[in-house]
Amino acid sequence: MLNRQEIGEGLLSFFFPQYCVNCKKYIAESAGYPLCKKCEEMIRKDISPCCLVCGRPLLSNRQTLCRRCREKPFSFDFARAVTLYEPPIKNAIHAFKYRKILSLKILFMHLFFEYLSSNPFYHDIDGVLPVPLHPSRLREREFNQAEILAQDISKFLQKPLMHKAVTRKKKTLPQVGLSMKERRLNLQGAFQVEDEKFIAKKKILIIDDVLTSRSTVDSLAMVLRGAGSQTIFVLALATGK
Ligand SMILES: [Zn+2]
Ligand SMILES: [Zn+2]
Repeated sequence: MLNRQEIGEGLLSFFFPQYCVNCKKYIAESAGYPLCKKCEEMIRKDISPCCLVCGRPLLSNRQTLCRRCREKPFSFDFARAVTLYEPPIKNAIHAFKYRKILSLKILFMHLFFEYLSSNPFYHDIDGVLPVPLHPSRLREREFNQAEILAQDISKFLQKPLMHKAVTRKKKTLPQVGLSMKERRLNLQGAFQVEDEKFIAKKKILIIDDVLTSRSTVDSLAMVLRGAGSQTIFVLALATGK
């Protein structure tokens, strides 16, 4: 028979998994989410040098823009990510998104708030817009990870959450493995502005979890531009190399 304390501990580890999602070691002193201190200290927050426009990491600081930005400008003003998409943060994002370990949001918010506090120009916006998910994907996944992050960022910045201003109309294929042209076609007509008055002449901060090719946030920004947005910033938790 289990005693009361053991039952209590069992319940606690059910709600707060005690094994690190990165190194899989047992966490004796949990911060409320399953990433151990050692792994958390490994998260790289400095991704310079990076492209001044899209925030993609650059190999050297001889150039200020990446090749993509020199050849074909994006529709947003600039994009940045708080960390690099590599372990341990990569494993934490996977656990959050696909294993639904939602307590990891506490860690992600620490990272976002730290970043936003040292970059005060993000406070000069009119609203926070999470990248919308298509309703059928939302049903599959049960939550929109970008919206969960954007909710707390909107509270932190004390700016409205614009989650109803734009919807995703088309069920797009996963972008992985598609060429640049295929990505563009795949995303054509994907987003629709529901109410222009929330968008026109506004400074908008788009929130996403991971930036890879940036084609999704680019086509979202293109639609916002079409509806008359003044400034479009993008902020993500992590960026691919
Ligand atoms: Zn660990
Ligand atoms: Zn760039």
